[in-house]
Amino acid sequence: MKKVLILGSTGSIGTQALDIIRENNDKFCAVGLTCRSRVENLIAQMKEFNPSAVCVGNADDAAKVRAEFPEVQVYYGDEGLIEIAKMDCDIVLNSLMGISGLAPTYTAISMGCDIALANKETLVTGGAIITELCREKGVKLLPVDSEHSAIFQCLEGNKGRAVKRILLTASGGPFRGYSLDQLKGVSVEQALNHPKWSMGSKITIDSATMMNKGLEVIEAKWLFDVPAENIDIHVHPQSIVHSMVEFCDTSVIAQLGLPDMRIPISLALNYPNRLNYSGESLDFFTVGKELTFEKPDRKVFKCIDLAYQAIKEGGSYPVVMNGANEELVAMFLAGKIEFLDIPNTIEKVMEKHKPSKANSVEEILALDAESRRMARELL
Ligand code: MN
Repeated sequence: MKKVLILGSTGSIGTQALDIIRENNDKFCAVGLTCRSRVENLIAQMKEFNPSAVCVGNADDAAKVRAEFPEVQVYYGDEGLIEIAKMDCDIVLNSLMGISGLAPTYTAISMGCDIALANKETLVTGGAIITELCREKGVKLLPVDSEHSAIFQCLEGNKGRAVKRILLTASGGPFRGYSLDQLKGVSVEQALNHPKWSMGSKITIDSATMMNKGLEVIEAKWLFDVPAENIDIHVHPQSIVHSMVEFCDTSVIAQLGLPDMRIPISLALNYPNRLNYSGESLDFFTVGKELTFEKPDRKVFKCIDLAYQAIKEGGSYPVVMNGANEELVAMFLAGKIEFLDIPNTIEKVMEKHKPSKANSVEEILALDAESRRMARELL
């Protein structure tokens, strides 16, 4: 029985992971669950899965949960996430939103626990210290992001063989084909209307600006130790090819499947084995009629180049880019700024930034706070 701690159990990835655990309750048990604000959903999950520890967003919610479940260890807030990450378990699924995933992941790795990583911001901001700590502790970092799960699968059985390129696929988001002019007036509702994937609101906006793909380039660089200039984004609107790897002999290996996050989640949880899944099979006679690939429009979707620039500069730049992006996406979702304010302000924050140390979780979190303040100030 594999003991799973799910950080962010009421979100999109978390609930799908619990579906998998429910269907495979001879293989997995959920020993820890966390939420930020959906405490009623968490309580329902607790009744079904009987975790021994949980973490909620604030002290009031913690008191409420304690009253109903006196035998459960209840934590709250950012400190609580770090405490629960120390619990006895076999794998931590990190499906938190944004940089809040960094500190608990760092703690879980310190405890020697394997990580199923759905939170790309952990590697975008802390790639150097996280991968170093994984090596030191012998911890496996198993990607849940569909593209990175694909790349991981393409590389398996090819250990030590020289990679020429990673071909990172992208759906292109809801605004594929738009001009800069057309992007000017887009609404929150339009930006949240993703054509292929149903996800949380932050990552859906990132897909609309294509910052999500920029973050994924950085994530891939750290996971697979491939320089960013050898990672090529391929817009593939059908989302069937989840990514590909080209080796030194120009042979390309791809991983394909229907766009369903349960596939990469179940592989990460059950690695190195695959789980049976009752979902639909991929029918090439249907989907194969149209599998297309195009270059991303980097002039319209400026976030792509900003991300390449950030990882090229390295050090504190990806942290600052990410912090500004998180702040601006939240402001856009709250209706406070325009869609194009997101890339334009990130660019300004990066221009103003002077390189500084980002060698510890504390330094990274301080830089994150500073970049958010700068983003607000510039608007
Ligand atoms: Mn992805």
